[in-house]
Amino acid sequence: MDARKILLVIFDGLGDRPLTELGHKTPLEATPKPNLDWFASNGVNGLVDPIAPGVAAGSDTSHLALFGYDPKEVYTGRGPFEAAGVGIDMEPGDIAFRGNFASVDEDLKLTDRRAGRIREGTEELAKALDGLKLGRIKANVREGTEHRVAVVLRGRGLSPKVTDTDPHEIGETIQESKPLESAARVTAKAVNAFTQQSYKILKAHPVNRARVAKGEPPANAIVLRGAGIFPDLVPITERFHLTAAGIAGVALIRGMFRTFGMDVIDVRGATGGLDTDMIAKADAAMDALRTHDLVVLHVKAPDLCGHDGKASEKIRVIERMDAMMGHLKAMLSTEVVVALTADHSTPVALKDHSGDPVPLTIFGEGVRVDDVLNFDERSMAHGALGRLRGTDVMNVLLNASNRMEKYGA
Ligand code: ZN
Ligand code: ZN
Repeated sequence: MDARKILLVIFDGLGDRPLTELGHKTPLEATPKPNLDWFASNGVNGLVDPIAPGVAAGSDTSHLALFGYDPKEVYTGRGPFEAAGVGIDMEPGDIAFRGNFASVDEDLKLTDRRAGRIREGTEELAKALDGLKLGRIKANVREGTEHRVAVVLRGRGLSPKVTDTDPHEIGETIQESKPLESAARVTAKAVNAFTQQSYKILKAHPVNRARVAKGEPPANAIVLRGAGIFPDLVPITERFHLTAAGIAGVALIRGMFRTFGMDVIDVRGATGGLDTDMIAKADAAMDALRTHDLVVLHVKAPDLCGHDGKASEKIRVIERMDAMMGHLKAMLSTEVVVALTADHSTPVALKDHSGDPVPLTIFGEGVRVDDVLNFDERSMAHGALGRLRGTDVMNVLLNASNRMEKYGA
């Protein structure tokens, strides 16, 4: 039995609900998409509940499930994945926070929670804080996109059970981090020392002096939230005996791929935004299939349109996704099994994630074919895969690519 390669395409937040403005169709139903439909009509189809029916999944918990990890057992917050995504080499026991560069006055009262959505100079600011000693604890600091920053505490006896320092509201003072259990005292102390020391360093930094001189809000503080301990996951490469690579523009997903033991491939023009170069990503995926058994291609754009509540934007993104699949189709060999799915629904009408199930199509040589003709929510309900949970998907893909292991004798 020859094992095939797997190309898994994840369209973030693709699932939707019918919209009056689209004649009671979903964006997928309302968009002509010959290539996506080609995969559906030549493959096997179904719906996936990323976590469980009706549960609105986050991108992080859903990706855990899609790669065979039970989020209820392993999820410790998104901080650790984002930190891994911006390139901090995490170690088990590390505590990661998500944070913002913010503007505060001398009393540490928040005047701008995003430091004027600062775009330039954050690399230097993060470098000025990276390696900061907080007693026996060390802080690793790395800038994310725009005002975002990842902070990882490393040292003995750390605990994620501490409160956030982010006050969220303008005019409020940066919160003191409090331990939620006695074992978290060292951590809370380190977090508070970080708040104080980083303010002193940032306030005096040339980047901020220049900002103030230009009348821009200084990025003179860091507010932290979402403490999480780095989860100790068995890499999918070990669990499923395959080599794996991932392509994604957004830090959170890149971090998850890295944590799952996948090679993360950089693609020029992959931004994680609406302007992302999908064709460049598809080319990179085909390239990666030469050297990896499993290649995952993540596209963030549909989720952004859902959050923005813009049906017309989502339709345009679906057209571009379709062009990307046409580009891929022309390059495919019978060696590759292709799977198309989403990590959750982000209905335009809700501007947020919902618990509606998402499409799943699997196409490849030897893969069964059902009567579904279109890649949309309505059609998928008639597919032969029926309704799966996120944690089933990897097994189904391993089977479709002749990589399953026998359960029993
Ligand atoms: Zn998502
Ligand atoms: Zn989202």
